[in-house]
Amino acid sequence: MKELTAREWHARAESIRLRSQAFIDGRFVDAASGETFDSVSPIDGRLLAKVASCGEEDVNRAVAAARRAFEERRWSGKAPAERKRILQAFAALIRENGDELALIETLDMGKPISDSLAVDVRATADSFDWYAEAVDKVYDEIAPTSDKALALITREPLGVVAAVVPWNFPMLMAAWKLAPALAARNSVVLKPAEQSSLSALKLAAEAGIPDGVLNVVPGMGPAAGRALGMHMDVDGVFFTGSTAVGRYFMEYAAKSNLKKIGLELGGKSPFILLGSFRDVERAASQVANSIFFNQGEMCTAPSRLIVEKSVHERAVEMIVRIAGDYVPGDPLDPKTRMGAMVDENHARRVMSFVDAARREGAEIAIGGARAREVTGGAFVEPTVFDRVDNRMTVAQEEIFGPMLSVIPVADVDEAVRVANDSPYGLASSVWTDDLTTAHAVSRRLRAGLVYVNCYDCDDMTVPFGGYKQSGTGRDKSLHAFDKYTELKTTWLSLDRG
Ligand code: NAP
Ligand code: MG
Repeated sequence: MKELTAREWHARAESIRLRSQAFIDGRFVDAASGETFDSVSPIDGRLLAKVASCGEEDVNRAVAAARRAFEERRWSGKAPAERKRILQAFAALIRENGDELALIETLDMGKPISDSLAVDVRATADSFDWYAEAVDKVYDEIAPTSDKALALITREPLGVVAAVVPWNFPMLMAAWKLAPALAARNSVVLKPAEQSSLSALKLAAEAGIPDGVLNVVPGMGPAAGRALGMHMDVDGVFFTGSTAVGRYFMEYAAKSNLKKIGLELGGKSPFILLGSFRDVERAASQVANSIFFNQGEMCTAPSRLIVEKSVHERAVEMIVRIAGDYVPGDPLDPKTRMGAMVDENHARRVMSFVDAARREGAEIAIGGARAREVTGGAFVEPTVFDRVDNRMTVAQEEIFGPMLSVIPVADVDEAVRVANDSPYGLASSVWTDDLTTAHAVSRRLRAGLVYVNCYDCDDMTVPFGGYKQSGTGRDKSLHAFDKYTELKTTWLSLDRG
């Protein structure tokens, strides 16, 4: 496929047709109230679309449609091979429409177009393909009971599930929920983030899944999101987003029907670089590329570099040099590696951490300012805070921006202590050439993901999720089915009396 130039992407952006209505029971509809909200591009502040602002009434309609589709077995009643084929066709269609989906993602949330193509579109399609394959390959169980009875252990769909997702990888975070939820035969209602509803609406229209099985209700969190959380006929809500909002969902479940809740939340992931790792440059370049990728808007971003003093200065020097490759640029230019923050509010919030760092006595090794201000876009420079103490705000709070806190430590024990001294436990990393240290530290790290001498390794085959306040349950891999299914035990007597 021919690579488009920045000019060609801009031309396409001018003529793109965007879906902005809710998608309920197989049809695009306005919100019952007729209300809309503005979807604004963080690239230049321009209005992209006026999106249906769904509330309780719309959620009720979507849940009722999903329930009807489930009760009528429109999806769950199809043969596995047929469901597999439909999900595979959906994945193929995502790839075919890759340019358009990537453009929507970039316009809507500001990430570089080359990342939207190479990461978001590819991984979204891969996710549907992987779970499509699982549809007719996962078997149920027979328990080893006495021969007087037969006990079947089967997985059944929950019924109607809701997915509430964030804006950092709008399609992909939705796909990590939709693909296993659909593969497990549920009906789904998706609420995208208000900053990034457009790709989900495009996807829903193309999915080729029976009416009512997949619904999308764009809207505000406290309206559409809360209505899903509180709904008495939703069997599970699966959420990716901040820890603060994750708490609400536990509360919604407690106050309504005790629906199942799955939470993929925030992180403040430690990257431990020990003096026993010889290739300091490689480690430093990994931490820089991982914290600056996607503008640092990554739940797994290695936002704390915990480094042994012997290699501290060399590492920081290298990271500062690489930061130069991430000067924010035009997100529609294929050469750009860092785009805009998702919106102006978020850019301001991210910048407030620069003030906190200064106030609390960290050094700013590079960055710390807004960029490309003449464009009207929400750009922030890649930033490195040096000589950070782990008790400082920039080491404790999730910034969700291109900002790294470097924390020098004396030895491996201090490194592990500091790494675990966080309310979060999503990703973690240790870099050492010593095999024993690698294993020992991996065991001591309280996190759902540990990367040894690597970072951001990724595959659909492995579970993804956090310890502590980074969440409950796992996305990806066959383990995701634990969230989207009930386990049923069926006893059959073999005793003829
Ligand atoms: P967020 O503010 O928590 O929002 C996530 C979703 O929840 C959005 O759809 C949002 O709607 C909705 N929401 C907000 N308030 C709500 C309420 N009171 N009741 C019900 N729903 C509500 O998160 P974000 O700012 O979009 O995304 C950033 C966060 O996501 C970070 O903390 C990041 O670490 C986390 N994240 C985690 C993972 C992971 O897998 N662990 C992956 C990606 C991101 P609105 O858009 O209308 O606010
Ligand atoms: Mg939000």
